[in-house]
This record gives sequence, structure tokens and C-alpha cells, in this order.
Amino acid sequence: MRASLQLSMAGLNVAVLTKVFPTRSHTVAAQGGIGASLGNMSEDNWHYHFFDTVKGSDWLGDQDAIEFMCREAPKVVYELEHFGMPFDRNPDGTIYQRPFGGHTANYGEKPVQRACAAADRTGHALLHTLYQQNVKARTNFFVEWMALDLIRDAEGDVVGVTALEMETGEVYILEAKTVLLATGGAGRIFAASTNAFINTGDGLGMAARASIPLEDMEFWQFHPTGVAGAGVLLTEGCRGEGAILRNANGERFMERYAPTLKDLAPRDFVSRSMDQEIKEGRGCGPNKDYVLLDMTHLGAETIMKRLPSVFEIGHNFANVDITKEPIPVVPTIHYQMGGIPTNVYGQVVVPKNGAPNDIVNGLYAVGECSCVSVHGANRLGTNSLLDLVVFGRAAGNHIVDYNLKNKSHKPLPKDAADQTLARLARLDTAVNGEYSQDVANDIRRTMQAHAGVFRTQASMDEGVKKILEVTERVKSIGLQDKSKVFNTARVEALEVENLIEAAKATMISAAARKESRGAHAHNDFPNRDDANWIKHSLFYTEGNRLDYKPVNMKPLTVESIPPKVRTF
Ligand SMILES: Cc1cc2nc3c(=O)[nH]c(=O)nc-3n(C[C@H](O)[C@H](O)[C@H](O)COP(=O)(O)OP(=O)(O)OC[C@H]3O[C@@H](n4cnc5c(N)ncnc54)[C@H](O)[C@@H]3O)c2cc1C
Repeated sequence: MRASLQLSMAGLNVAVLTKVFPTRSHTVAAQGGIGASLGNMSEDNWHYHFFDTVKGSDWLGDQDAIEFMCREAPKVVYELEHFGMPFDRNPDGTIYQRPFGGHTANYGEKPVQRACAAADRTGHALLHTLYQQNVKARTNFFVEWMALDLIRDAEGDVVGVTALEMETGEVYILEAKTVLLATGGAGRIFAASTNAFINTGDGLGMAARASIPLEDMEFWQFHPTGVAGAGVLLTEGCRGEGAILRNANGERFMERYAPTLKDLAPRDFVSRSMDQEIKEGRGCGPNKDYVLLDMTHLGAETIMKRLPSVFEIGHNFANVDITKEPIPVVPTIHYQMGGIPTNVYGQVVVPKNGAPNDIVNGLYAVGECSCVSVHGANRLGTNSLLDLVVFGRAAGNHIVDYNLKNKSHKPLPKDAADQTLARLARLDTAVNGEYSQDVANDIRRTMQAHAGVFRTQASMDEGVKKILEVTERVKSIGLQDKSKVFNTARVEALEVENLIEAAKATMISAAARKESRGAHAHNDFPNRDDANWIKHSLFYTEGNRLDYKPVNMKPLTVESIPPKVRTF
């Protein structure tokens, strides 16, 4: 929506297709905040933010993209403020900012207050603000339309998409001079996930089926504080406001793992520490399988002002009054660092003739479905909402500069809808086809068991075998109910074809990376291997082939931050 706004304001004719009403996108669930070095409440500048993000990424992030994002951050946040986004305020009227994991002042010295927040409903506020601005700018929304496949012509240029109108079950071709994917993450490839049910990685599936590689898919973020058993997220903003993780002995164990940042160390670090505590028998509860997040010392007033949704979640999903007792939490899958490879203008890039980043004409990707790559091997909290608006705006500007109004549509290839029609026909004609959600559950079980917080070679190799078996089963999914009007079974079956692409890319890229970096913790290779593995993975679904490309260690204007041991 940040990109479409830019386009509509420039007078272009924009169609936004969305599976759900725009304000129900997963962004609505973002709680904690959006990162920008405004320095409203403690000394800060973009250099610190840049340093934290490079270090947070475990040196797999591209430093040009990271510099671009951190420098743009204050600008886009003030712009949101002027669009009417209802941020919390300080007494002097400036935007309220809270501390967040891995965000520091003076290059790691102490936590900084950088997360601009609207209570614990920042994503909700952001999404509604952008929707309203789009309505004002007369963007056309196609609500409950599911994009199915990209259309590429003989030269490889993208000239449109095929899509299913869910209400009628009709399939359409939408011809477009430019297509931008902002389809979000694929968090639903895991069984325990903080993600919405619609996060099935559709853009990844569309790209993969159009021969575009997926980048760095082995890196999945576990959020330390999912409600045990339910998976629902408790924002890192809780720890930003002062919440503490405790083990069965009541000990604040993060002091041992990260003496400086403690509970506010980055997520990969905290998740592994929690897993370690549980493994060593200091977990809580009858099965010793979770730890506790303690907010009782914050006081009811702060909780109700800064974390009202967390209070409700505690009540509804754990039957806990967080003002009075600690709440059980476990690391839960949260965010995909990898995605469709792009440059800082959101243009999709692929290796071609020896060049690692050749532009795919007519195709852009922004947000969680993309890999630009600012998050590298581990994302810092609040950097995703930032990534959406910074690169959404940049992509919008880039498309506007392209002067599309004066360009004509490229001709549609004759076979434009063939791939899509073949997929739909397969579902409709399958005899004794398997139920899509049985297959989806096996994808989730496999990923949960073989691509978890800690990984071993044997387990990942077995995971690859299993996921390839499931891939074969995806081909034999069928529909019992073949009716057209609002047939959600058809939508779900089509989603499984996207889930499998994300899962396969993850499992195969993970089994190949023989080191530990960021969220990829490999027990057989416990150290980071900078000599061999400072490189991005690229997975092609055809032939299940892997390729690699270099990480850009050169920022735009400042000096490169060389790899160091990561301590906090
Ligand atoms: C619970 C939770 C809390 C979070 N908190 C924070 C936070 O505090 N700060 C932060 O920086 N990050 C946070 N994140 C991460 C961040 O919210 C997400 O990465 C980000 O919102 C993703 O935005 P997006 O626009 O890429 O995708 P989404 O918001 O997921 O939107 C995807 C859109 O694409 C549409 N779509 C998908 N497939 C299709 C298709 N086939 N056809 C048509 N439309 C399609 C959907 O309908 C939807 O509108 C959080 C994530 C979660 C899950």
C-alpha cells in the first residue's frame, strides 16, 4: 500500500489485488513498533542503527541496502505521522519510542529507545493510515482476489498476472506494465507460528514457478515470546518496557548469555538461550517445556497504557493476568528473512550471464516476501515495518520515474494463462485426490521437526527427503467440492502449491549451509565460517538447484563494517 499510494498520487492506474480486506493483512498484528533513529528519548543517529542492523544480520545483510533503509527511516516515519498515523506521544509532543532487541546506542554500548510505537498496535495504526491514504488517492482495490501466477513473455519480462476472483470462482488475466509483489511471508510452513493463516508465501510460489530463485530461505526467525501452546505473539515491546525472562528457578537467565543487553539481545540469541535452558532441565511447568515472561513489576498502569493488547492476549490465550503473574512462553516461528531477490528500488534481480543481479523487467517485490537484503541471517525487531515503508516508497518512486503513462503494454504471450489453467484443471479432475490440508499438515510437521531453532545435518538431510516426498503428494491434491462460488477449499489447495515452494527452498538451502549464522544454528558446524559462507543462497525449484551470490559488504557512503564475533 505504501507503493500503490506513490503510484496513485502520480496519477497512474493501480489495481491492488488482495486475498483479504486490506486492513486484515498480517501487518495488522504487528505490535511493538517501527524503527527509526529519531532520538526523541535517548541520543541516537542512523549510524548506530546501521551498525546494529549489520551486526544483527550476522554480516549476511547487504550493507548498501541497510544504509539506505536506516538513513530513510526518520523521513518515512515523519511522513507517516503527517499521513495521520496515531503514534503514542511524549509529554513534549514528540513520538514515543521504546527500546527493542539488538538496538543500541554508541555501537553496542547500551540499549537505545528507537521503536516508534502506537501502544502495542503499531501495525494496526500503520495499515489503517496507509489504507485511508490510498482511498483518498483513488487506488483501485480488488478485495478477495487471489493472484495465481506471473505471466512472463518470451524475453522473460513480466506482463501481468492471472488471478482468481474468490466470490465467483472466475479466473482472469490482469495485463500490467508493472507487477509488484507484496504478498508477505510464508510463516504457515511451520506448525507453531505467530503468523496469520493467510501467510502462505503466495508470492514466493509465483516467483518460483516463474523460474525466479528464492534467496536465503534457510534463515527463519523464531520469536522468543510466543504464548506456550497457542503460538500467539507477545511483542518484544514487553521486554522493551522492562519484562524479564525467568527459568524454573526464577533466575533471570539472560544475564548469563548476554551480560550487556540481557533480555534485549537479538531474537536468534534469546531464542537459543531459552532452548538451552529448557534442554538443561530448567524449563517450567509439568513438562519443563517453557520459560516465563515476567511483567508483574511493571505495574498495572504501564501495562494498560503501553501493552493493552498483550494484557488481553494473556487473558484470552493463557488464562493469565499479566499484571499479577508471569506468562508461559516458547520460541515460535515468526518471520522469514529470505525471499524474492531485489535491489534497493524493489526491482527483482536474478543471476544472468555471470552477473549476479540482472533485472527482471516489469517485476518488483517489497516487504516480507522480498529479500533486499536488509535482515541478512537475523532481523532486528521493528526493522520489518520499516522495510515495508522504505522500500515500498522507493519502489513506487522508481516505477513513477519510469514514465509508464507514455509506454504501451507489451503483447501478452499466447500461453499467458496456460500454467494457471493446468493447475486448476488438475485440482478439478483429480480422482481420489488427497485433501489439501492433510498435505499442508505434513509440510508443517516436517518443517517443525527438521528446521527448528537448533539443526543437525542428519535431521536436515532427513527433512529434505521428507519434503521431497510431500512435494510429490502436492501434485495429487484434489477437490471434493468443485463448486465455484466462494469455494475456500480451492483457495486452500492453491495455497498449498505455494507453501511447498517455500518449504522446499528452506529445507534444501538449510541442509546445504555448513555453518552457524544468525537464525541458522547448525549443531555439527557451531561456528560462523566467514571464509566460505558470507554469501547469499539462491534456490531454484526447477531441478531443486542451489546457486550462490556475494553479499554486498560495501555501504553507499560510509565505511564497511567488517565481520566481528557477535556478543551482546
Ligand atoms: C504477530 C506479529 C507481530 C509483528 N510485530 C512486528 C513489529 O512490531 N515490528 C516490525 O517491524 N515487524 C513486526 N512483525 C513483522 C511484520 O509485521 C511483517 O513482516 C510485515 O507486516 C509483513 O508485511 P507485508 O506487507 O510484507 O505482508 P502482509 O502484511 O502479510 O500482507 C500481505 C498481503 O498480500 C496479500 N496476498 C498474499 N497472497 C496473495 C495472493 N496470492 N493474491 C492476492 N493477495 C495476496 C494479502 O491479502 C495481504 O494483503 C510482526 C509479525 C507478526 C506475525
